[in-house]
Formats: sequence, C-alpha cells, structure tokens
Amino acid sequence: MSELRKDPIIGRWVIISTERGKRPSDFVSPSSRRKKLSGFCPFCPGHEYTTPNEILAFRGSQKTGPSDWTLRVVPNKFPALQIEGELERAGEHIFGRMNGIGAHEVIVETPSHELSLATMPSKSAEDVLWAFYSRLTDLKKDHRFQYILIYKNEGESAGSTLEHTHSQLIALPIVPKRVQEGGRICWLNS
Ligand SMILES: [Zn+2]
Repeated sequence: MSELRKDPIIGRWVIISTERGKRPSDFVSPSSRRKKLSGFCPFCPGHEYTTPNEILAFRGSQKTGPSDWTLRVVPNKFPALQIEGELERAGEHIFGRMNGIGAHEVIVETPSHELSLATMPSKSAEDVLWAFYSRLTDLKKDHRFQYILIYKNEGESAGSTLEHTHSQLIALPIVPKRVQEGGRICWLNS
C-alpha cells in the first residue's frame, strides 16, 4: 500500500507509491517525442474489461451494451492512494507518516481516441464538467478526505502516459501545504 510521509524540513506531505511505476505507457522517453506506439488503448470502447469497474458513466438513450457510454469514470488501475481502509497516522521521531488512504479516479472524457478537450463537441466538454461535479459531490461526503484535486495532463510532455484524453481526480486525507499557503500545486510525473 502507498504511504504519505511528511517532509520534516519543509512540512510537506509526499505520496510514496511504488505501484505507479507499473502503469502502461503509450509514449517512449520525452526526448524522442514519438507518439502512438501502442495499438491497444484501455480507454477505447470495447476495452472496458481492462479497467476497474465503472464508478460513473454517462450514456445516451440508446442502450446497446457496455460500450455505449459517452463518458466513464473508473478507479485508477495504478492508484497513488487506496480507497479502502481507515486513516492511521503514525510518527517515528520527527517523521510524520500516514497510510495512503484516498481516492484516485480517471475520467475518460470521450469514447473517441482522437478528440481532445479542445476539439470535442461542446456538449461533451459540458459533460466532463458535470462528471467533475458529480464526483466532487459524492467524495465530499467521505469524512476521511480533506482536499480533492482534479487535474489533467495533456500529452507526453505534461506527464501523461496514455494518449486517450482523460482527467484524473485525487482525494487526499490532508490539505497540501501549497494550497494552505495559497500557492500553486506542481505535479511531477503524475
Ligand atoms: Zn483510446
């Protein structure tokens, strides 16, 4: 299980998650800037079986099967934090520690592999915002969480490992230090 550890020098919590290193990638090293190496996309319709079960999905009026969605929200298969369990704080000397409880979800914004948030129909972009709202409203009820962040890595240079346009949501048991201080959050390799 992942773990939250507090940096005793600057007081910032850091997520230590070894599972994240196992996630797949469509991209090779950033330096080569080549795209689309993999022919298989876990977010495309028909490949629902490769992701964890849906938390939320939007579907049109025509019900044609499991692939008839227009937007899906699924747990991240390689989560930085785990949804199951209770928060347990522990400390060793000056080192604060907490088990890695949280939510880490993926919002697959469109069934189309080619579209992006910038090029999809405006109704689809609206649905993305509705999905954010719905998940925020639901996760806000969980007493373990103190902060929810929705973020999006667009493209390889932003740290994305899959081409198919998607956003991510992470619910944290702490308020990040930079948020408390009114600063900007910076993700590295998220
Ligand atoms: Zn795809």
